[in-house]
Amino acid sequence: MPHFCHAIGCNVDVPASMLFCRPHWWSLDKMVRDAVWAEYRKGQEISKRPSARYMAVQKYAVARASFKAGDEARKQQCIDALEQSFRWAGIALSRGEGNPLIQLGYPTTKEMELELRMFAEGKPEPGPEPAPVSDALPDGG
Ligand SMILES: [Zn+2]
Repeated sequence: MPHFCHAIGCNVDVPASMLFCRPHWWSLDKMVRDAVWAEYRKGQEISKRPSARYMAVQKYAVARASFKAGDEARKQQCIDALEQSFRWAGIALSRGEGNPLIQLGYPTTKEMELELRMFAEGKPEPGPEPAPVSDALPDGG
């Protein structure tokens, strides 16, 4: 059975253990990738019972990876994914499992609501600004 990349509109077939195809995975900030790994539990793709914490981070990653500037329909889909992410975070909190989105810059539901409002009003991209990526090696000495 094919298992597609979770980015919205992406039809790349990937192994069940992978959330995204490589281009979508590497389009994410390192902190988002780290958060996905932090919440991933080995074998959850087989048991089909990921934690609420994982779902919150996963939906957040989907919103981030799927965003396409200038695509209004896609923007709405990303807002939906973001809403689902924040809802899962609320479920994790209500279960006493803590807030999985702290590591992504959302210490409370107030920041989550603000993010949704700003995004809906046309902020170009959900989430904090990506950190500059540098592959440059330090100057030799
Ligand atoms: Zn993809």
